Amino acid sequence: MREFVLERAASSVEAIGLGGVPTSADAHVRSSTQYLAGGTTLFDLMKLQVMTPDRLIDISGLRDEHGRIVDLEDGLWLGALVRMSQAENDISVRQDYPMIRDALWQAASPQLRNMATLGGNVLQRTRCNYFRDTSYHACNKREPGTGCSAMEGCNRRLAVLGTSDACIANYPGDLAVALVALGAEVQLLSVDGRDRMLPFEDLHRLPGDTPHIETNLTPGDLITGFKVPGGAWTRRSRYVKVRDRASYDFALTSAAVALDLDGDTVRAVRIGLGGLATKPWRAHEAEAALLGRRLDEATAREAAEAALLGAVGHGEVAFKIELGRRTLVRALLETQAMELPA
Ligand code: FAD
Ligand code: SF4
Repeated sequence: MREFVLERAASSVEAIGLGGVPTSADAHVRSSTQYLAGGTTLFDLMKLQVMTPDRLIDISGLRDEHGRIVDLEDGLWLGALVRMSQAENDISVRQDYPMIRDALWQAASPQLRNMATLGGNVLQRTRCNYFRDTSYHACNKREPGTGCSAMEGCNRRLAVLGTSDACIANYPGDLAVALVALGAEVQLLSVDGRDRMLPFEDLHRLPGDTPHIETNLTPGDLITGFKVPGGAWTRRSRYVKVRDRASYDFALTSAAVALDLDGDTVRAVRIGLGGLATKPWRAHEAEAALLGRRLDEATAREAAEAALLGAVGHGEVAFKIELGRRTLVRALLETQAMELPA
């Protein structure tokens, strides 16, 4: 690992003061400053020399400010410094937002979830092998303009939605799929001291011809939390994750579904897809295909066809298109069948 300077922030105001030089927004800028939360993915990437920041600003001491889960009148507040295990075990999350609990407990391992924060989780980077192994020269995400080794290479775990000619890397996380499905917003504190809210769906960017720029954060932005809107659909919600190993593995495909039903008729539906896309993916077309209709296997399949309509499979990853459809059908039917507590 290269040498770096470590500074501890005692408050978020101090953190943004220290972070007022290029940070995670320009993840491709190799000499940069990064916030350090749980460190569970940042240190990995530093050891691999994929990220080589000069300065880390330790924000783990900001838990008093940003480490709380709060029931709001119109939803739920999740602080950015909340640990994954803390959210997974929170009573409001378990009862009223089971999709979020499902996404968290199926992620990583208990040890990692005890360290890792929600803010760090949503900013994790792709697990594309060529990105993480610097012995491969061609990776547009790691070194802009060098090409893409995965396009014709080992790409079984990568993306079929939102890809470009420059990059087909998938977004690997689970929580973000639930947050995008539920229409969450992310709160940001900018280096000029201003708070702003951004729709979670706009936090991550499509790769286009700049796959090295992964988010719409501006340099130095600190994520302080997430607002998840409430609604009649949040209790009847599920996150289904399909993976090679039954535990401790990233998603091949996943589907986050929330439903408000009148009998079997869909009054409201929210759908997110994971494992399949270059960013956390809201399946608006699938939602439109279901709204006002009776939910059964046939309509679930129609929605799944709509969700994967634009999918492109390069080489060995093509199997994910049908697997993605089946994952969504299963998630819809399992969510419909959920028995809700009175
Ligand atoms: P850090 O490593 O501290 O930070 C990550 C990035 O986010 C850094 O760039 C940092 O600068 C930035 N950052 C952190 N907090 C903020 C903030 N508040 N504002 C602005 N920038 C910030 N995840 C899954 O979803 N599903 C899995 O199945 C899964 N499996 C895993 C298996 C292994 C073996 C490992 C190592 C990780 C796995 N993960 C998985 C990823 C894991 O969940 C993440 O490593 C973790 O959530 C990151 O959180 P952190 O607090 O440790 O982030
Ligand atoms: Fe790099 Fe993206 Fe190609 Fe993977 S898919 S090698 S991350 S450019």
